[in-house]
Amino acid sequence: MEIALIAHDGKKADMVQFLNEHRDILHQKKINLISTGTTGDKVKKAGFEVNALLSGPLGGDAQIAARVAEGKCQMVLFFRDPLDRHPHEPDILMLMRLCDVHNVPLATNPATAQLLIKAV
Ligand code: PGA
Repeated sequence: MEIALIAHDGKKADMVQFLNEHRDILHQKKINLISTGTTGDKVKKAGFEVNALLSGPLGGDAQIAARVAEGKCQMVLFFRDPLDRHPHEPDILMLMRLCDVHNVPLATNPATAQLLIKAV
């Protein structure tokens, strides 16, 4: 199973904390992690294997959206920062839209992500 990780700058620490809290599940279930670029750097530093794509503003969200559309990515954990502006808002909306089009579980905050990861 492939899970995509994306965290806006204000939420990257929350993403690392979330992964640390669920390290066992991720390991046991042999989950392949992919991520946007800068999120991936943080995730790697925390000791996880992850395939980091482009940084979000350079197209990373769009790359993940394409994998969702192609049926390659089965879950998206996207810790958004609703209090910040993002130059790549159109890509973000596209990713969320394609999750809905293809019925792929999408968590936009840690509380929802926790519920999803427990269902894996
Ligand atoms: P980043 O991208 O992981 O490269 O910071 C995340 C985003 O802003 O979509």
